[in-house]
Amino acid sequence: MKLKCSLCGNVFSGDYISCPKCNSTLLFEYESHDYREGLLNPRFRNTSSIWRFNLLPRIDYKCIVSLGEGGTYIHKSVNLPKYFDFNGEIYLKDESRNPTGSFIDRGVSIIISHVKCRGYNEVSVISPGNLGVSVSAYSSYVGIKSHIYIPLTIEKGKLYQILMYGGETYLVRDIREGLYKILRLWDENRVYPILPNNPYYMEGIKTIAYEIAESIGIKSTDGIVVPMGSGSLIYSLWKGFKELYELGCIKELPKLFGVQIRGASPIVDAILGSEEYRDEYIPELFYIEPLNKHLAIKAIEESGGYAFKIEYSEVLNSLKDVTRLEGIFMEIASAASIASIRYVLNKFSVERIIAIVTGHGLKDPATVREIMYTLISKLGVERGLVKGLGRTKILILQAISSGYDYGYSIWKYLSLHGVKIRLPTVYQHLKELEVAGLIHISTKGGVGREVTRYRLTREGYKILKALI
Ligand SMILES: [Zn+2]
Repeated sequence: MKLKCSLCGNVFSGDYISCPKCNSTLLFEYESHDYREGLLNPRFRNTSSIWRFNLLPRIDYKCIVSLGEGGTYIHKSVNLPKYFDFNGEIYLKDESRNPTGSFIDRGVSIIISHVKCRGYNEVSVISPGNLGVSVSAYSSYVGIKSHIYIPLTIEKGKLYQILMYGGETYLVRDIREGLYKILRLWDENRVYPILPNNPYYMEGIKTIAYEIAESIGIKSTDGIVVPMGSGSLIYSLWKGFKELYELGCIKELPKLFGVQIRGASPIVDAILGSEEYRDEYIPELFYIEPLNKHLAIKAIEESGGYAFKIEYSEVLNSLKDVTRLEGIFMEIASAASIASIRYVLNKFSVERIIAIVTGHGLKDPATVREIMYTLISKLGVERGLVKGLGRTKILILQAISSGYDYGYSIWKYLSLHGVKIRLPTVYQHLKELEVAGLIHISTKGGVGREVTRYRLTREGYKILKALI
């Protein structure tokens, strides 16, 4: 077992978080004698956690920090094949059943075990969500202090989890600032920084591939749809499948399909060759150049897969539909990969689709509220509850009540919901709503830099309520 750089190919032994030569991602590589020991570690035969697998970093057993991560349920979909008009099978690997509600726990269990073994007392992480949650839980559990750098846009459920597990939170304006801070702490105080391209972390994540192969086998006609954030998940899966092939546990490799939401899609853009503007109004996404972009591209290309970009409005619909059709409530990134199934089937001939449900939907109540408002307004219009108020005006009222309270942000909200109108038209609607007494203007800021903001009037609130 050795650490090999994924970019320059140099090999290292020691405690590195990334390549000391080129700063790229390091990956564990196993030797033939590691493979000879097989897939399972007999020492852990009585557990369903990730630690029962053999090809993992060597960590003293006394250091292992486990909350029962892994061993998640694979759900054979009953209704989705019909929904997509597909004759094959669809499976959902439900990672929301991990201890803190996301797949991340697999990686964090290994990383915190390593950190404990090496004697660090503090860790730091920059995270818009699940990584911060998981690090907070696992480190508190063994008395390691965690410093969690979060953006203002963090989803509320995740923030509450971090606070409850006992992580120390710090607000940062953007990810670069957070990265700078945690790397400085690493230099100065030996506070161990946890990034999603850490080799120990990725070894934990790959066990999802092991478990899928164990439960339903793997064929070359299988397609795996995966949301891509940092690119770590899709590459770790690919690494896992290649190791299984090497072990002789599977005879064929699947195709990997990477999925991102339009406007926050740097990996898909790199693959499809189209550079898009970055949409800062998609609130749950905390943009960064993905640390493992090159590896995500490698996984997709080597497996013969493809990359898909999904519209935000389509993702919201997918989330609502799959929750009701399958009884699994997932986070929005996973709903994007479910929505991509339609495009996979158009382009590729596959017999089975396996979707990775990365985390639980309860972590993000704002998205739920958005879906409910859309449903409610549709219902209201259908029932004629609000006469003379078109869909656009209802959406504007919803936008304002959700905190999108100035002209440009309302325009963005409308376009995310499929209403493509020009900005001056938005102002015309706002004027009409003001005249109708449903909204009023509140101006903020000092002289010369006032910003016009909109609020609902009492009547405006009543109208929105009447739509229910
Ligand atoms: Zn390197």
